[in-house]
Amino acid sequence: MRVAPYLFSAVCGFGFMSLTYAHEETHDHKHHEHHEHHEHEGHRHHGAHVHGMATLDLVMDDQELMLHLQSPLMNFLGFEHEPETEQQKAIYQDMLQQLERKDSLLTVEGTTCQAESIEIEDPFANQDEAGHADVDVSYFLRCEQPDKITGLKINLFDLYNRLETLQVQMVLPTGQQQLELNPQRTTIRIN
Ligand SMILES: [Zn+2]
Repeated sequence: MRVAPYLFSAVCGFGFMSLTYAHEETHDHKHHEHHEHHEHEGHRHHGAHVHGMATLDLVMDDQELMLHLQSPLMNFLGFEHEPETEQQKAIYQDMLQQLERKDSLLTVEGTTCQAESIEIEDPFANQDEAGHADVDVSYFLRCEQPDKITGLKINLFDLYNRLETLQVQMVLPTGQQQLELNPQRTTIRIN
C-alpha cells in the first residue's frame, strides 16, 4: 500500500512538465497552459527546506525515466534572493545552464538515455516569507534499454559542494526504494 502515495506524488510532481513533452502516445497527461503559475499541491510534498539537503524523485516506467529534483537554492547558488549584482546574475545563469543538462544531474550506466525534456521552475515564484527558495527541476529521459541500467551516478555533488545529502525516492518496475546519497556515495545501484 505504500507504493500508491509515492506514485501519486511523483506523478503529481511531474505534472507541470507535460508542457514541453514531445507528444507521444504514452504521455497524454493533461497539459497545463501556464506551468510557471502552476502552484501544485504536490510541489513541496517533502516539506523540509534544509540547506545542504535535496530530494530526488525517480520514476522508471517502460523506456522512460522521470526525475524530479528539489533543492534549496542555497545549495546551488550560495544565496536564495533574486540575483542583484552582476556577479550574482552570472552565478544564477550558470546554475540554470548546468541544471538544463542531464549530465549535470546524472550519468546512466548500462544504456543510453536521451533527455526529452528538462524543465526548471522559477525558484522565486514560490519564495516563502523568510526569503527561502527552492529550485525544482524535472528531467524526462528516454532510455534505449532500461532493463540494462545498472546504476545511476549522481553528478551534482561534483558540481555543488554545498550539497551534502540527497534523499532519493524511486519507483522502479521492481518496486519502490528509498536511499540517501552524499559526496561519498553518489551512485544508485539498480538490479
Ligand atoms: Zn533557505
